[in-house]
Amino acid sequence: MTNTKDKEAKGGEEDESEPRWRIGDRVYALWAGNNCYYVSTIAEVSEADRTVVVTWDDADTSHRRVSFDQVMRPSDETTAWSRARIEKRATVRHTKQKGRCLFTNEACEPGQVVFVERPLLVALPAVAPKLWECLQKLHEVRPLNLGTITFHFAALVSVLTLEPGDIDVIRDKYVPEPDEEPNEDVIRILKALQDAELDGESNKICKLEAKSFQRLVSAWRYNSFGHHKEDGLVLYNRISMCAHSCDPTCCWSYGDEDAFVLRSRMALEKGGELTISYLQDEDLLKSTSVRQQKLQNWKFTCMCPRCSLKVDVGRGIRCQRCKVGVLYPQVPTGGFETCKVCGSSPSSEDTQMLLNMEEEYVARVDSLDKKDLDDVQTVYQAALDIFERHWILYVMDTILWEGQRQKNIMEAMEHQRRRIDFHQHYYFRPTFILAWCHEELGDCMVQQFPSRKWHLMQEFQRAYRMLAILCGTTHQYTASPYNKLWQVSSTNNSANANGANTETSESRKPVAQVSISM
Ligand SMILES: [Zn+2]
Ligand SMILES: [Zn+2]
Repeated sequence: MTNTKDKEAKGGEEDESEPRWRIGDRVYALWAGNNCYYVSTIAEVSEADRTVVVTWDDADTSHRRVSFDQVMRPSDETTAWSRARIEKRATVRHTKQKGRCLFTNEACEPGQVVFVERPLLVALPAVAPKLWECLQKLHEVRPLNLGTITFHFAALVSVLTLEPGDIDVIRDKYVPEPDEEPNEDVIRILKALQDAELDGESNKICKLEAKSFQRLVSAWRYNSFGHHKEDGLVLYNRISMCAHSCDPTCCWSYGDEDAFVLRSRMALEKGGELTISYLQDEDLLKSTSVRQQKLQNWKFTCMCPRCSLKVDVGRGIRCQRCKVGVLYPQVPTGGFETCKVCGSSPSSEDTQMLLNMEEEYVARVDSLDKKDLDDVQTVYQAALDIFERHWILYVMDTILWEGQRQKNIMEAMEHQRRRIDFHQHYYFRPTFILAWCHEELGDCMVQQFPSRKWHLMQEFQRAYRMLAILCGTTHQYTASPYNKLWQVSSTNNSANANGANTETSESRKPVAQVSISM
């Protein structure tokens, strides 16, 4: 059982992209009974047919032979990969329309980890507390134009803590105007810091030129992510080459020590572009024009497949004549399609009136007070007479679902169903929103209709399958609906006598919560 020969053949370096399994390794392995990963120990390794035999922790004796690609180290999906391993998986290439973008070197299945990257820098207040305090004071005296000190703080922390090579990597990130002159905030901060008492090697900041500082601030502004727990920013090297799409090919979650776990959201061919969404999931459900407006924060016009559609089906208006058909606006002309039921189309006068009304409602919904449910209800009801399959109805369905969940569960469930319908109609991809809609609806069903087992299982199954793609089968988010599914399917089997669902007939215990101990 020695691997020395193989190692030599590869130039003495272990090929990290292909973990080598050894007897006794503690691993997650796929149990074919339900396609969930469980903790086990490797008992046999067969290099010839690329399989291992595992001993399950719960002593189950079925499906013990597992192929190499269905075995993973407990940390494989959460611990940052080496730079070399990432390079092997993804390549930066220059494109005509969008500049530098990121592409996969291998085909990916939905939910497959593309790579896991460690941050280049995590700029939290604790890294340089004196500097943070100093900037905060400046901001209190006169607020910075960006409305926050985090970008300037992160830029200065980069100078304080990173090697020159890594600072250059940050400076080289996407910035809309690379030669931008230093603005008043940058000059003001540098001046104030000249005499301030700072952390560590403050002379590095004294030597910093205003223009260079400005460039770093912009690099952070256009490429970083908000830290998921604290007030601060995180910047990644490869990830910041990912372009935006309103229909992104990838999704992501956090791994160990702020690592960025990038997964494919859909099947990707070799050479396919890796994109993420710079917008929140809920903004992806808003109309093309609203998305485009929000993306102005990054100073580009999105040309993704969804933004290029000629008809925006997230802005439906009920046909004024037959009251049955739904009309959608055509993007280039601004007019509406012909009604598919009565064949009429609004006159240009009516079109203008409808568009004005839409604009008024958008503004009204924007300013709604989520706590004033009566008011939301009034606006919602009035809007239902005019709109159908419109994103503003989705926004109000969300407020009403959240507001009524405790008090009026039946009403709330109806809003939740409508949220799911709209999401599927407008943007049918796995998203955390859609997965949780199903899980929450399943929770309500358990309370209200515990005997409708087929329905409960369907909601939990959908949530489970989507979350498995979005953050992997061993993530706690995914374990939640899986465990509910298991609970439902293991209670009172008579309700399932017609065999409506056999999927989990072979399922065993719930998924363990990362309980592996090495
Ligand atoms: Zn777009
Ligand atoms: Zn009609």
